[in-house]
Order: sequence, then structure tokens, then C-alpha cells
Amino acid sequence: QAKEAGRNTHHFFNQEMHKNLRRRLEIENQLKHALEKGELFLLYQPIVEAKTYELKGLEALIRWDNELLGRVMPDEFISVAEQSGLIIPIGNWLVNEVLAQMKCWHGSVLEDIAISINVSPRQIQDQSLQPLINDALEKYSFTASKLILEVTEGLLIRNPLEAKSNLQRLKDLGVQLAMDDFGTGYSSLSNLKNFPFDILKIDRTFVRDIEKDDDDYALVSAAVSMGRGLGLRIVAEGIETKNQLEILSDMQCDSVQGFYFSRPLSAEAIKDWSEKYHYKPNPQ
Ligand code: C2E
Ligand code: MG
Ligand code: MG
Ligand code: MG
Repeated sequence: QAKEAGRNTHHFFNQEMHKNLRRRLEIENQLKHALEKGELFLLYQPIVEAKTYELKGLEALIRWDNELLGRVMPDEFISVAEQSGLIIPIGNWLVNEVLAQMKCWHGSVLEDIAISINVSPRQIQDQSLQPLINDALEKYSFTASKLILEVTEGLLIRNPLEAKSNLQRLKDLGVQLAMDDFGTGYSSLSNLKNFPFDILKIDRTFVRDIEKDDDDYALVSAAVSMGRGLGLRIVAEGIETKNQLEILSDMQCDSVQGFYFSRPLSAEAIKDWSEKYHYKPNPQ
């Protein structure tokens, strides 16, 4: 009986692994042609000041609609893009796409706000990223300090010295750096001090249960005050309720982002949203 069950589990395990592998290969095969087929696009989510609700910036979030696979979310395909190296051409496209979009918004209420993009470790290690961003900033005459690069802590673990010099080279362009998803993975406050970050983004998994979970409350509260003590601006992700907004605002969190204000929206939709919001800056 036990042997039988063991064999079945084993069999099931292999099937699952096979399925996952097949999916990854399919994603990689399709992703190779996603750029040329114009299947990748960006959504934009507002980031607002916690106290005044003033619109401060947007985060660009990538989406992929493939004819075979349908909508694939970045949590699934970015790791494939990283491992296959496809993240380099995708990242190059994204920098130009975002700055071209910001140029289109000249003269609108989105003119002066900041734009955040997610940059994965492999891109940071790539020596062509710095000149690429430099060229794009010039090409679109975009003020460097309004471009924010969001990186996760994973980057800092393997080779901290190399990561530091790569981040510093990017900082030298005048862009800002944000540590994304703080609190997950190998979070360490010393990273905040040792690397040239301007912004700390608190992961939404801690915001989610902040009303009920005392540990999450304590963790967020400590991260906010220590981050502020180190001179960083704090952004809380995943704000879905008025209550969460008020808690984070009371903790002196600078900015917030989440479905409570808006889901990520297409370029057209975020422009409409921002115009309505500009005249009535109140969530919901
Ligand atoms: P992230 O950078 O931490 O982005 C925030 C994620 O939280 C987004 O998921 C966003 O849609 C989601 N979110 C925002 N507010 C709320 C909320 O109130 N509730 C909930 N439940 N979720 C919320 P998304 O767009 O699926 O992106 C997932 C991750 O994929 C991103 O996490 C980022 O790490 C990565 N990613 C997205 N776009 C890019 C990109 O262009 N390049 C790279 N390298 N990574 C990207
Ligand atoms: Mg991010
Ligand atoms: Mg995040
Ligand atoms: Mg994330």
C-alpha cells in the first residue's frame, strides 16, 4: 500500500515537472518573437502621496499577450526572460517605450511626474544598460531624476561589490534607485545603508494583513522609521483599503500605490484617470 502510494506520488511528481518544463519551453519559444510581433506592452499604475493624495509618479508594468498562450503575467515570464537573456532586448525596448510615452504626455497633467521601471539583476549586470539609459534620456530630453529604477534585493546578494559599482554607475546618470519588494527574501537594513538607494518600497505581502497581523504591523512600522532615518523615501505597495492607507499614512510613509487608488491601466486609460483625478484627488 505504502509502496503503491509512493510510486504514485513519484509518478505525479514527474508529470508535474514535465508540465512545468513544457510550459517554460513554450514561454521561451514564444517570447523570442514577442518583441518583433509587438506582443509586449505596458500598463501604468499611479503612485500618490500618502497625506495629500497628490499624484507623484507612475510605475510601468509589463504585459504580454501571446496568440498561443494568451495573457502571460510578468511573475511568470520575467524569470524566463532573465534565464534566456531575452530580458536584455526587452529591457532596451522598455526604456525607450517608457520615455517615448512620457514625451507624448507633455503638456498634460502627467508632464512633471516621475516614472518607475523595474530592472532585473541581469540587466543591472549588463554593461550596456548605463549607456542605453543615457542615450534614451538624451533622445527624449527627459530629466534624469524623474526616472526611477526599481531593483530587488536578490541583485545585492551574489556579488555585492559588483552590484554596488553597477548601481553607482546608474546613479551617476542622475536617475533615482528604489529597492523593490522590501521585506521579502534576504532583506537587510544594512543593504539600505550600503547601496545608493533613494527609495524603499515595502512589499505588498506585509501591507495585506497589516490590520490583523501584529508582526506585519511591527515589521512595516520598523522598516518605515529606519528607512526614513537613513534618509530614504518610503513607498508602500498593495494598498487596497482606506484603513490600510490611514495606517501607512500614520506611520509617516511618504507614498502609496495600490488598487485602492487604481489598478495598472493602459497608456490611454491612465491619461484619462489622471485628468479626472487631478481635479478631484480623492480615492474611490
Ligand atoms: P512589482 O514591481 O513589485 O510590482 C507591483 C505588483 O503588484 C504588480 O504586479 C501590480 O499589478 C501589483 N499590485 C499593485 N497594487 C496592488 C494591490 O493593491 N493589490 C494587489 N494584489 N496587487 C497589486 P504585476 O504587474 O503582475 O508585476 C509583478 C512583478 O513582475 C513586479 O512586481 C515586478 O517584479 C515584475 N515586473 C513587472 N514589470 C516588469 C518589467 O517591465 N521588467 C521587469 N524586470 N520586471 C517586471
Ligand atoms: Mg516594482
Ligand atoms: Mg514590489
Ligand atoms: Mg513584486
